[in-house]
Amino acid sequence: RTVYVNGEYLPEEDAKISIFDRGFLMADGVYEVTSVLGGKLLDFDGHSARLERSLKELDMAAPATGDELLAIHRELVARNDIVDGMIYLQVTRGSAGDRDFAFPDPAKTPSSLVLFTQSKPGLANNPAAKTGLKIITIDDIRWGRRDIKTVQLLYPSMGKMMAKKAGVDDAWMVEDGFVTEGTSNNAYIVKGNTIITRALSNDILHGITRAAVLRFAREAQMEVVERSFTVDEAKAADEAFITSASAFVMPVVEIDGAPIGTGTPGHVATRLREIYLDESLKTAI
Ligand code: PMP
Repeated sequence: RTVYVNGEYLPEEDAKISIFDRGFLMADGVYEVTSVLGGKLLDFDGHSARLERSLKELDMAAPATGDELLAIHRELVARNDIVDGMIYLQVTRGSAGDRDFAFPDPAKTPSSLVLFTQSKPGLANNPAAKTGLKIITIDDIRWGRRDIKTVQLLYPSMGKMMAKKAGVDDAWMVEDGFVTEGTSNNAYIVKGNTIITRALSNDILHGITRAAVLRFAREAQMEVVERSFTVDEAKAADEAFITSASAFVMPVVEIDGAPIGTGTPGHVATRLREIYLDESLKTAI
């Protein structure tokens, strides 16, 4: 696999980052994941805009312009013959050659930029969309700026392990009785024909797939309400689902052992998945 690191395209085994890089020492970095379908990038502009925002919130220098990032994404898709898959992009605050809590001077310490591809043939035909996901709920003990897409992913990793141990697919995180989001996705319930999902704030990541799906839902005259919901409300809902750049829209059929609705993928989630895939392929670049 050919990867990109700080201006160079290299075989993955030759790509190197300093052990003093603040991404490695302090999780001082941000990332994006963009899906590729049929060789084209989905929602690239959204991911690029969110990256810019994450960098700004952390006073981190942008390592490249949006156009340059697009060119690197496309080059990696071409060099690795990616038809369906993902591109991972990470920016860290770089290495000042030592360990120091204070941010280094950005004029002397450029940020590091790394991108790599993951091939996932048939990504849009994930069989899990037909069966749905089972999830558990866990406490949300993350920090208070979940709107910044940082590489501090230890707790979400632990959440995935808790799910695995419980014999299910994923976990939704809960704070003060209300669901925040999934370990790596946004969370939704459906009551009748109303789609309910937590409003945007610092408490959750502002999902790029979320924005697109809510826009398509409203365009299709579905009712959308952005508000918090409890685990009990979710268990009593007609449907539940998640969204993310790599899962698109994925039905949830069981929460903490309780079947949701009929215990099979609901028609709203199934329809939104079709609409999302159709519509975002039309604007893929
Ligand atoms: N919330 C969290 C915590 C996530 O990690 C992700 C995936 N990166 C999402 C939501 C979904 O965001 P997106 O649709 O932009 O992939």
